Amino acid sequence: MTPQTFYEQLKTHGITLTDKQKKQFERYFELLVEWNQKINLTAITEKNDVYLKHFYDSIAPILQGHLANESVRILDIGAGAGFPSLPMKIIFPNLDVTIVDSLNKRIQFLNLLADELSLTKVHFFHGRAEDFGQDKQFRQQFDFVTARAVARMQILAELTIPFLKLNGRLIALKASAADQEMEQAKNALTTLFAQIIESRDYELPNGDPRNITIVEKKKETPKKYPRKAGTPNKKPL
Ligand code: SAM
Repeated sequence: MTPQTFYEQLKTHGITLTDKQKKQFERYFELLVEWNQKINLTAITEKNDVYLKHFYDSIAPILQGHLANESVRILDIGAGAGFPSLPMKIIFPNLDVTIVDSLNKRIQFLNLLADELSLTKVHFFHGRAEDFGQDKQFRQQFDFVTARAVARMQILAELTIPFLKLNGRLIALKASAADQEMEQAKNALTTLFAQIIESRDYELPNGDPRNITIVEKKKETPKKYPRKAGTPNKKPL
């Protein structure tokens, strides 16, 4: 997807990027490729691929009507080089975005990126979701949690649901979700008082399969979750 096609695709969804926003995406691409030579950020470095598989792919929650340009608080768990939250932040500047990632080099990259792109209302933290999830400043503070390609739902639910306000939503993006994955997540979701309200398969314009799953928090998360770092992975609910 060329940058031009990216702009045109957005237009079909009623979003017209300003010159400033186009430049922000362009600079994001340049910095991603430049920093990728020093630290491992992504396997995708060809320009048209970055626009399709990182930028366009990341904004699915906007294109599918799950987010608007409001000053809601979003937490992106395991965002790596900023996906999916920062492309959404460029398009909807009113969003207040927090990122937690367990690799400090990626957090350093994000700080530099935010400076270069003059992003405001972005906050980056190094650490594990399991630890932040027990911290009062983070627990039950967010309207939305996003996560792209971080873990299967059975594990992801424990890493994300504790951060949500009541009726807040997890937006999980991945290449594809087998029915089996949702079946396996049933116990975790019940234990955490959360419910899948939508799970939709779709395709990128090049035909690559994708899935978006929306999970809503129905009641306060029991205090013991998330369990200590590593446990959700080792002993999934
Ligand atoms: N979301 C990004 C994307 O789609 O390009 C990165 C995906 S990468 C496969 C997974 C990221 O999650 C890594 O950057 C890793 O450091 C982070 N991660 C994995 N487990 C985590 C945890 N428990 N807490 C915080 N970050 C975690």
